[in-house]
Amino acid sequence: MKKKVLAVVVGMTMAMMTLTGCGAEKTAGAAEPAASSESVAAEETESGAAADAAADGMSTDVQAIIDRGVLRVGVKNAVIGFGFQDELTGEYSGMEISLAEKIAESLGVDVEFTTVTAATRTELLDSGDIDCVLATFTITDERKQSWDFSTPYYTDYVTVLVQKDSGIAGLADLKDKKVGVSSGSTSARSLVAAMVENGVMSGDGFDAKTFDPATWTDGISFAQYDDYPTISTALSAGEVDAFCVDKSILAVYHTDDRTYIDEKFAPQEYGVATKKDSGFSAYVDELVTGWLSDGTIDGLIAENGIE
Ligand code: GLU
Repeated sequence: MKKKVLAVVVGMTMAMMTLTGCGAEKTAGAAEPAASSESVAAEETESGAAADAAADGMSTDVQAIIDRGVLRVGVKNAVIGFGFQDELTGEYSGMEISLAEKIAESLGVDVEFTTVTAATRTELLDSGDIDCVLATFTITDERKQSWDFSTPYYTDYVTVLVQKDSGIAGLADLKDKKVGVSSGSTSARSLVAAMVENGVMSGDGFDAKTFDPATWTDGISFAQYDDYPTISTALSAGEVDAFCVDKSILAVYHTDDRTYIDEKFAPQEYGVATKKDSGFSAYVDELVTGWLSDGTIDGLIAENGIE
């Protein structure tokens, strides 16, 4: 019976993906058919996962993870203190890893980590390959249209890394420079907004909602890369003049011959992302808010040497 319910849930997820299309275009209303499919799954089953879930008030999405026995989580592998993978042992560590382990522990299941990038994390969530993302993922109003986010567990800031011999010391020196950013990140938009706010650029034609790093050339330009090591190599090679992203992510690329600019800007609130309207979202949020109020998250921040 359980198998049948799981098949219905998988079918439902696929139907939802077909109905909602790719991430950025999803709307909250588009997820409604999934909710009715869920109740069909529950009705069709007299015993099994959906009925168990209904009986104890647990969402079928949560029950599906429990039945699988594994929580699949998208994490970073090169962000020290957040999600970092030891190359020799393959072990992951950091506060996002510990949080994922604690969510799995609360569910009574194992945890399986998949390394994601800013560009791949939402695709993997949309396809159902992972159940949630704990990967320095900034909560934005735009993203909230497509995915659910927990209450923030950490706030970082954006800054810029440059070669010391470049002479670039602050936002003003970035005028007319080329900056490396990650595809799928908030970084380029945050940098242009900060330059406009600081009077370095006029801001004519800048609209945060429609901003596209690929086409922006007014006062600064961007090269987009799929991952951070490639941006670091491009900076050393002089392909770009600067490397812009959250300070936590930049730390591992901050070698002796490099320095940060003076300013840090654009607060980045990190949340656990789950599928839009999934029953798992509320479950995760309850855990995170509990860990914020009982000091667990402060403890993880301290343990991982995060400021
Ligand atoms: N935190 C930023 C974002 O979500 C930077 C990208 C990243 O997390 O890799 O856009």
